[in-house]
Amino acid sequence: MRRIANEAAESIGRLLVVDDDLVQRTVIGKIGAKLGYDCVLAPSFEIAEAILRTESFDMMTLDLSLGERDGVELLRLVADRRLHGMSIAIISGCDGRIMNSTRRVAQGLGLFVAGSLTKPLDLDQLREVLRLRHQSPSIAGAGLTQFDVAPERISAGIAQGEFLVEFQPKVDLESGKVVGAEALARWDTPEFGVISPMTFIPIAEHHGLIPQLTECILTSAMSEGRKLVEAYPGFTIAVNVSGALLSDLALPERIEDILRREGVSPHSLIAEITETTAMADVDRAMDILVRLRIKNIGAAIDDFGTGYSSLSALAKLPFSELKIDQSFVKGCAADEDMMKIIDASVGLARAFNMKVVAEGVESAETLARIRRAGCDIGQGYLFAPSLRLARAESWVAQRNAFIDEGASLTGRKAHAPRLGSVA
Ligand code: C2E
Ligand code: CA
Ligand code: CA
Repeated sequence: MRRIANEAAESIGRLLVVDDDLVQRTVIGKIGAKLGYDCVLAPSFEIAEAILRTESFDMMTLDLSLGERDGVELLRLVADRRLHGMSIAIISGCDGRIMNSTRRVAQGLGLFVAGSLTKPLDLDQLREVLRLRHQSPSIAGAGLTQFDVAPERISAGIAQGEFLVEFQPKVDLESGKVVGAEALARWDTPEFGVISPMTFIPIAEHHGLIPQLTECILTSAMSEGRKLVEAYPGFTIAVNVSGALLSDLALPERIEDILRREGVSPHSLIAEITETTAMADVDRAMDILVRLRIKNIGAAIDDFGTGYSSLSALAKLPFSELKIDQSFVKGCAADEDMMKIIDASVGLARAFNMKVVAEGVESAETLARIRRAGCDIGQGYLFAPSLRLARAESWVAQRNAFIDEGASLTGRKAHAPRLGSVA
């Protein structure tokens, strides 16, 4: 193990370089030091493992092939050690599909992947990735250490009202109007600023805090979202519900209580079930979902196509909506294989009489493709990112007014405006 002190005026954090290639390890270490990192170089899996057991870092670059061992094993160790505040740059000579799968493994473990780099390294790209966490503190988790995201801190955050929701609009692809919004959780801490759910949800899940957190988020989603629901007939608010919660038989009543308290009709809520793989017992999950549906609450299967049990969950459980995972949607305009998955997902949704939502719509080409494929609803940065209530209200109002105007003036469907034109 070698240490390289940072060469900038002040340290921007600690970087662990895990690489068995001497030249590459040294180059990354030197670039890191120039950027202001205090660097520790680990030449093998075993050394990296030993270091990670006792020290914590803000950023790690990880070569996937480490002799006999591999980087994925190390990712698991990082997750076990709950080092979720550390950003990770994955480096590999493997093909893009292996990189993407590894990225998914890391994300599945709740880790933040700042970027993936192929060999030979593009040094500009490397610098960009190493800087990423400092440019995007809200995404990276703002330098959280293991202690800071202790479960007690999450419980305290719930008690102090630090969790809030942002609304990301869902657009009807036929009329162009906004028909709903997904409520996404944010944790606004005094010490680190806004923290992404990718950081805190896995920790909450690991420590059994999801029931309290979901209750808290659902309550704000309903008390704030009610304004949108009241302003637009048929508007729905979607809230993420972890598949692991579908073992609590009292869940439908608990949700109903919140709806009653906040004065929102069950029709206006869609429970987006994430991680169907986490459902311990499908029969029990079915019992709970059926009762939600009987109470007229909608249920969406989230991230469709990514979980191993997606297909069997789809066949057995009474979902009303299918959300195609953004990994298929984002690249579909340039990738026929992705398009085939979208077509097949639309076909499945039709067979089960469900609405189809495409999420991760980032470009006009993607929008054209998913419309042609027959998706009903689109969600993504092309339309709008997630917005705090006041901005969401004005965005929806302006978009719907624009569509009304456009439709009556020209008699054709419109898809603008993007956020920039109305925010
Ligand atoms: P998700 O349910 O798949 O939510 C969509 C995520 O994609 C959101 O990230 C959203 O901001 C992002 N996104 C939306 N449009 C685009 C796009 O066009 N391009 C790209 N690249 N990304 C887009 P966010 O808010 O960071 O949420 C991440 C995940 O955290 C969610 O993924 C969901 O699984 C989980 N999550 C969020 N809120 C909650 C919650 O209240 N409870 C639970 N259990 N999980 C939650
Ligand atoms: Ca979701
Ligand atoms: Ca999703």
